[in-house]
Formats: sequence, C-alpha cells, structure tokens
Amino acid sequence: MCNQIIEIIEFAEKFVIIRASKVASQRKRVMKMAHLMVTDSLNKLRNENIRITPQREAILEFMVAADNHPTADEIYQALSAEFPSMSAATVYNNLHLFTKIGFVKELTYGDGASRFDFTNTQHYHAICEKCGAVQDLYYPVLDDLEDVTHDLIGFEVLHHRMEVYGVCADCLVQKK
Ligand code: ZN
Ligand code: MN
Repeated sequence: MCNQIIEIIEFAEKFVIIRASKVASQRKRVMKMAHLMVTDSLNKLRNENIRITPQREAILEFMVAADNHPTADEIYQALSAEFPSMSAATVYNNLHLFTKIGFVKELTYGDGASRFDFTNTQHYHAICEKCGAVQDLYYPVLDDLEDVTHDLIGFEVLHHRMEVYGVCADCLVQKK
C-alpha cells in the first residue's frame, strides 16, 4: 500500500473515532441531565418528608426517561416485570403525589385516560387524532401570555394550557 492511502485510512479512522466520541459525550450529557432531574425530584420528595421506596424511584426514573406522555397503565405495564408486587393503584397514587408536588403534570383530554408529563418548562401539546400521540410543542412567543392576560383584563392567572389537534407527521407518511 502506498503511503498516501495509509494516510487517508488513518485520517478516516481518526474522523470516525472523533465522531463516535462526540456521540458518546452527547449521550453522557443527556444521561447526566436525566440523572440531575431524578436527583432534584428525589430531593423535593425528601423535603416533603416523603419516603423514597424503590417503586417510587422507579416510577420517577421512568417518567424522566419517557418522552411520550405515558398513561398510568403504560407505566404500570412497563414496570410490572421488575416489581411484580406493585399494583396499578400504587402507580396512580405516586403520579398524583408527583403532580401535587409539582414536577409532573397531569394531562386530561376528554374522556381518555390521563397522561402524565414530567416537565418544568411551559410547553404545549400537539395531539394526533389518528394515533393519539401527544407531541411537545415549545412556542416561546406565548411566554408572556399570562402577564399579557393580567395587563389586558386584570385577570389573576393561575395556569393555562393549549392543545393543537391534527394528524402527526408519522401518520401522514403512512397515509400516502
Ligand atoms: Zn399520529
Ligand atoms: Mn409535554
């Protein structure tokens, strides 16, 4: 093999290694974030003198990792193999506890089962009427909506929510 080809191969190898380490460090960052969110929430529970059981911690970890707004039943199904003695009621009670403390939001839509969202940032939801998926929608333009409402009509705002209904990108592709 001539030197030039060896050089090219060495260069390509280096490039692949750099890319792989970049992906790995990105993954580490995301995992560190998730870990911080779990630790932070556990501290909030401790501050309220709430006992941290392995089941409680597992539900919390599941919520932090989930990005699909699971129902209580979905969480129960996912964790029941690891905690065979855990009941659906335990999951419900924990979710309502987390909601009360404030790091989980309960999302109710019509008469469907409640979905739960681990969040600390105001955002909205786009709901697919075909598959029921609930996607996050961040829209900073609406950040001052509560202040504006107060200024315009003297309202003391407690909270607000917004949903956008339609067909998600995945369902649109499947239709074609
Ligand atoms: Zn869909
Ligand atoms: Mn959400």
